[in-house]
Amino acid sequence: MTPKKSGKLAAVLLALGVTAVVVADSAWKTVSQHRSPYHSSANLPGGEPLTRRAVLIVLDGVRVDAARDMRSLQELERRGFGGTLTTILPSLSRPARATLVTGARPEVHGVMTNGAHQPPPIPSLFSAARATGVHTAVAGDSSWARAFPDQIDAVQEFDKELHASPTRDAGPILEWQKQVCDAMVPFLQQQSSGLLVAGVTAPDAAGHDFGGRSELYAEVVQAADACVSRIIGALDDGETTFLITSDHGHIDHRGQGGHGGTEPEVTTVPFVLAGKGVHSGGQPLDAVQASQLDVAPTLAALLGLPLPALAEGRPLELLLDLTDQQNAELRARSDQQQALMRQLLPDPGSTAASERIGRLTVSSTIAMALLGMAGLALFRIDAPWMRRLLAVLTFLLVYAALFWALGLQYSLSAVVREEYLNSFFLRNAAAAAVAFVAAALWTPRSPLWLGLLLQGLLGLRVARTYYRFGLFLETYLPNLDASFRSYLDLLAMAAIGAAACLFALTLRLRAGRTRVS
Ligand SMILES: [Zn+2]
Repeated sequence: MTPKKSGKLAAVLLALGVTAVVVADSAWKTVSQHRSPYHSSANLPGGEPLTRRAVLIVLDGVRVDAARDMRSLQELERRGFGGTLTTILPSLSRPARATLVTGARPEVHGVMTNGAHQPPPIPSLFSAARATGVHTAVAGDSSWARAFPDQIDAVQEFDKELHASPTRDAGPILEWQKQVCDAMVPFLQQQSSGLLVAGVTAPDAAGHDFGGRSELYAEVVQAADACVSRIIGALDDGETTFLITSDHGHIDHRGQGGHGGTEPEVTTVPFVLAGKGVHSGGQPLDAVQASQLDVAPTLAALLGLPLPALAEGRPLELLLDLTDQQNAELRARSDQQQALMRQLLPDPGSTAASERIGRLTVSSTIAMALLGMAGLALFRIDAPWMRRLLAVLTFLLVYAALFWALGLQYSLSAVVREEYLNSFFLRNAAAAAVAFVAAALWTPRSPLWLGLLLQGLLGLRVARTYYRFGLFLETYLPNLDASFRSYLDLLAMAAIGAAACLFALTLRLRAGRTRVS
């Protein structure tokens, strides 16, 4: 190929790479910059309170298997109920916390990531309590007060970026959790009624740094257990209800944790409910299988607050100690709220189906164009057919091997920590670029056509995902695993484009040198 021709082809590869990055970036922005379009000013009725004080203890990043070893939870569930909740997606702390007090999904409350601080415009337990004169207090990190500004009566904040690695020493985390607990317990004791939220956050840091099955993580969970025991011991006066859960779990991948994705160990979290207003008698763990969406309606029922208008979940009325009349009244309030919610929110099933039909034309046009491009490139590669085939196989094998070796996975959880996001993406791009160079050894006379072929194949996979699940947040979140894979495919396309340009440049320089000599 002449240098001039190769320059043009390299420009095409680069343009495709840039387009891929733009698509990936705008897909991510539809999620991260999503603002809830919903609101409700409906005046739903409250009910008779079943308890004077409800304490929601939000553990951060505690898996179900780790929670089974927490004495505080075992003792509490013997007096009430234990089980598990399914979390919302993405399985991140701030979206989950907003869900715990609104009963709504992130698409509805608008807190999509840990970087989002846009207050949910929809009704929450805090706004309902404010409207009905019920006291609220939060002891936790600053995300609570930022998400619900001017809605919480008493706030005690503690923020710290906890990191244990590289020392692999849980000591600082343990010490910090104890200090927080020392301050938190008397603060909570001062709040004699209403809704109290307590964040016990140390396990998350250990989960990230050591993984959800590590001994160090288990050690920090034990420290959290001690703190939960102290909170219960200080507040348990026979007139108080306790609901304990976790915002998400943690994976354990080669000694590191992470969350955000759809793994069962991340999206299944412990749940314990006991105390005033709750049936007693003790239930085995796993007796209750509910959703994170049910927590806010259940707490609203306990405190006699209006059910949050856009809550998708329902009060767990079977767990509550209700007279027949109270039961009927709560059921009627819940039916009324659910009917209102369905009026205000689009139906997920039919919305997904109609959005998919809407994507058909664009995705099939893109797929045809990419197919044509890949076909053209395949024919233009100046090498025997066997070598063309081997080149594609080499790319796939080397990319997969490096993907594995560099600890990458098609899941947000595998990023480990949010600040490692760029490094995660760079490792993926590097793997794709190296795999491309290795594949090009089979087709040394036309590396650029090979690059175009590989870009086309990756692009086809993205187009297929776009049609099936969507890449952009339209009304509801696209399939998280599929869109994350597409995100990495798009970055791989960009890496191939960049590597191909370097090839073209080398060709040009070599040609220039040949002319000079
Ligand atoms: Zn975390």
